[in-house]
Amino acid sequence: MSGREPIASVGSRPIMAAWLALGLLLAACILSGPADAVERSPRGELKRVLLLHSFGREFRPWSEYARDIKAELERQSIWPLDVQEHTLLSARFNNPGPEAPFVDYLHSLYEGAPPDIVLSIGAPAARFVQRYRGKLFPDTPTVLTVVEQRLVNRFDLTDNDVVVSVRNDFMAAFDNILRVLPDTKTVAMVIGASPLEKFWIDEVKRELKPLGDRVGLVWYSDLAFEEILKRAAKLPPNTVLFWGLMSVDAAGIVYEGDSALRSLHAVANAPIFSYQEPFFGGSTVGGPMQLTKDTSRKTVDAVMRILGGEKPASIKYETIEFGPPRYDWRELQRWSISESSLPAGSEIMFRDPTTWETYRWQLLLIAAVILVQAGLISGLLHERRRRQVAEVESRQRLAELAHANRYSAVGELTTSIAHELNQPLGAILTNTETAELLLKGTSPDIDEVRQILADIRRDDQRASEVIRRLRSVLRKTPFEVKDIELNDTVREAIGLVAAVADGRRIALAYMPASVDLHVKGDPVQLQQVVLNLIINAMDAVSDADKKKREVSVSTVRAGNQAEIRIADTGPGIASADLGSVFNPFFTTKPQGMGMGLAIARTIVEAHHGMIAAENQPWGGALFTIRLPIIR
Ligand code: ADP
Repeated sequence: MSGREPIASVGSRPIMAAWLALGLLLAACILSGPADAVERSPRGELKRVLLLHSFGREFRPWSEYARDIKAELERQSIWPLDVQEHTLLSARFNNPGPEAPFVDYLHSLYEGAPPDIVLSIGAPAARFVQRYRGKLFPDTPTVLTVVEQRLVNRFDLTDNDVVVSVRNDFMAAFDNILRVLPDTKTVAMVIGASPLEKFWIDEVKRELKPLGDRVGLVWYSDLAFEEILKRAAKLPPNTVLFWGLMSVDAAGIVYEGDSALRSLHAVANAPIFSYQEPFFGGSTVGGPMQLTKDTSRKTVDAVMRILGGEKPASIKYETIEFGPPRYDWRELQRWSISESSLPAGSEIMFRDPTTWETYRWQLLLIAAVILVQAGLISGLLHERRRRQVAEVESRQRLAELAHANRYSAVGELTTSIAHELNQPLGAILTNTETAELLLKGTSPDIDEVRQILADIRRDDQRASEVIRRLRSVLRKTPFEVKDIELNDTVREAIGLVAAVADGRRIALAYMPASVDLHVKGDPVQLQQVVLNLIINAMDAVSDADKKKREVSVSTVRAGNQAEIRIADTGPGIASADLGSVFNPFFTTKPQGMGMGLAIARTIVEAHHGMIAAENQPWGGALFTIRLPIIR
């Protein structure tokens, strides 16, 4: 309380102090919890509880029951409690000495001021209370707890007593052993030599009689614990250890806590079984067992009811049986006991945490990172796919555009094509008429007729060739890449415009490279480019002097590249326009569309090549196409 005084005395700042006080009050309310605050508020008078231990405060299994009962009492009591603990040391001796001095001690303590309730833990303490209550605290209600039902002294029970008894079901404990380790032949019984332990030896023997020869029992009750440890280290196969009790060994040495069991576990070469929860967790395999909570719950219930004014005689409990089986996962592993051999409804405890349990956050984080990454990757894949589709589509459009452009180019060629067709057709007509005249004669010269027919055939083939070329250039084909020889491809394009050049009195020269030029590409598209450039060149030279109308096409190999050069003797390109001639819709012609060079550049770039325009020093434009050579 002294810690609070300075805060309350900050009189110079009363508002601040009031806030602080309110804060403390709130914190106290939150910490104590609403239910407690309501229940405990009318705190009654102090209740004195006398807790009598059988062997000692730290003696397993009773110590665990006592600890749990005390904790529950503290938690549930609506009165302030004064729990006074005493230990009946006489139970520790194999030959119990006189109890009188202890009785006198208690008598002097409680004479005239008896406790509100007496709570005995274990059978020896229950016996003691029953024997001396008349002298020590005749009217005090008593709860006799943690007593095996066989050890309850029913004759001396009074209306002032409540019994919380348990039942040690040895048959169930042995059934469990034979179930999880069916090859068991021998059970070594670890048990001490106190009177209580001796009682149990007879009881166990009697209860296990129905097992007959199924399993042999070896008793360690007359051995010192040191000797028991030695034997436990060298047990023959198919033997298990049964931990009954080891309060006092045959040598009279007392074993508190769980040190004895732990040393046995450390040396034993066989699994250890027990039926008590206080021994479970670290040393024993498990099975059905007496659960501490079951007993402490009933005990505390009885104490609360009696302190609340209820008559002990009206409080009755059934004997507490073993709880559902529990197993220690570590022991199951150690002795290779399969989980499938455990009875239904078993609880497996102390399992090593799985990787998931140990690294849950790290794993979640990794999973999240992987998910985000997967999302990103699939997003990128999706984008790539879309790009590919877009590329295919754009190529398709290009092919369509190029096709349309070819039509317009061919439109310009119509006159010359008509001229080119007319020539052979006219020759065919003339030759046919000549042949008819010859045949009308009396003795026609058959050789000459044969010659004329051969001419007709040649002219017909010439006309067919013109039509084939025209068709091939006008064919609507998707962009199709194959291995082509560039000299031939260019020659074919020139073949299409040769007649036009002729008609316009333009000298169109072709100088192919002396070596084959193999490139990868679409021949129709590349012809389209060459055709466009030649038509542009012919347009450019059209206004020039008749003697200077020249367009020369050549192909060369320059390193790993194949070059197509189209030069003319026209006026060239205005230097300001050199950078724009390849832009879409750039034209200087009144009827021009300005798409020819734009399409040409797109086609060449789709072939991983490049196209450039320049003016020659001696006049006229020069267009150069470069394409990668494949072999
Ligand atoms: P269009 O022929 O419909 O104008 P192009 O894209 O084929 O479209 O050509 C664009 C422009 O480039 C032409 O209008 C012309 O000004 C210029 N050009 C192309 N080839 C030549 C050339 N051989 N000499 C001079 N100028 C040219």
